[in-house]
Amino acid sequence: MKRIYLVIDIGGTKISASAFSSKGSVLGFTRIPSNPADGPEDAIRRLRNKIDGLLADKKYSLNKVRGICVSCPGPFDKKSGLIYRLPNLHSWKGFNLKRRLSKIFRAPVILENDANLAAMGEAHSGAGKGLRNVAYITFSTGIGGGLILDGKIFEGVTGDAFEVGHMTISKGGEKCGCGKRGCLEALASGSAIERKARKLAVANKGSKLYRLWKNSGAMTVSTVIEGTRKSDRLSRMIWNEAIENLAIGISNIIQIMNPDIVVIGGGISKSWNIFKGPLKRHLKKYTWKRPLQGCDVKKAMLGDFSAHYGGYKLLARN
Ligand SMILES: [Zn+2]
Repeated sequence: MKRIYLVIDIGGTKISASAFSSKGSVLGFTRIPSNPADGPEDAIRRLRNKIDGLLADKKYSLNKVRGICVSCPGPFDKKSGLIYRLPNLHSWKGFNLKRRLSKIFRAPVILENDANLAAMGEAHSGAGKGLRNVAYITFSTGIGGGLILDGKIFEGVTGDAFEVGHMTISKGGEKCGCGKRGCLEALASGSAIERKARKLAVANKGSKLYRLWKNSGAMTVSTVIEGTRKSDRLSRMIWNEAIENLAIGISNIIQIMNPDIVVIGGGISKSWNIFKGPLKRHLKKYTWKRPLQGCDVKKAMLGDFSAHYGGYKLLARN
């Protein structure tokens, strides 16, 4: 009997799903807007219809679904499947996603942290394929991570392992969204870069960065990258400082874990060409030679699909 696995990736603006065959080939992919105001029931109904259509096109049906893995960007109760909170999806708070999905699809459902799944995907099918110990970092609006040891997700005793964005790298440093000070996320993430860029551009209204900001209408990481490319001094300073802080975080990971590879994913990793040089230079400054020589530092290979492949791997193993 032909059996299939579904991986559902919940995001603040869109929800995507991939269907996999039991052997791991991708049967199809679909995506819907999250429409936060309409709530989870509406989103699940729209997603179910899309998946139904997608499977019908491939001569499959929903009753062949053998398991579902959900990639969650916010905290949840793994056992019960209750969502505590999701970024941008406030109406999902307190919703039991596992119970609802297993009822609709009549299949077992597992919930997993999005960065852990992306780590799993990159470790088994992406940049870390064939390697034993893979550290994965998302370099995006925030900074997250997942650690794969001997092919398995390392969860930690409370499920909070490898929250690399919240390692302290500066005593008394910038305040972080988590409430602490000096976290990596508060010093190197996309939102940290944007915050600093706005502050410094306002204080330097004659700078190229200020002009780029006013011309584009928004200060984003792309504005700072554009300024860096155009040799703007202020942009370069902000960007280099963020990359140096990121390097300190990665160096700590390499010193502690001695992994085979550190894979960098997330939105800003798409600008890999502009930061891999400075990142690798800073890593040499902060890391012992031997563990650094033994560790590859690479961009993620699967793009937006890292977590989809990770979800499949988890389901196929269960
Ligand atoms: Zn923090």
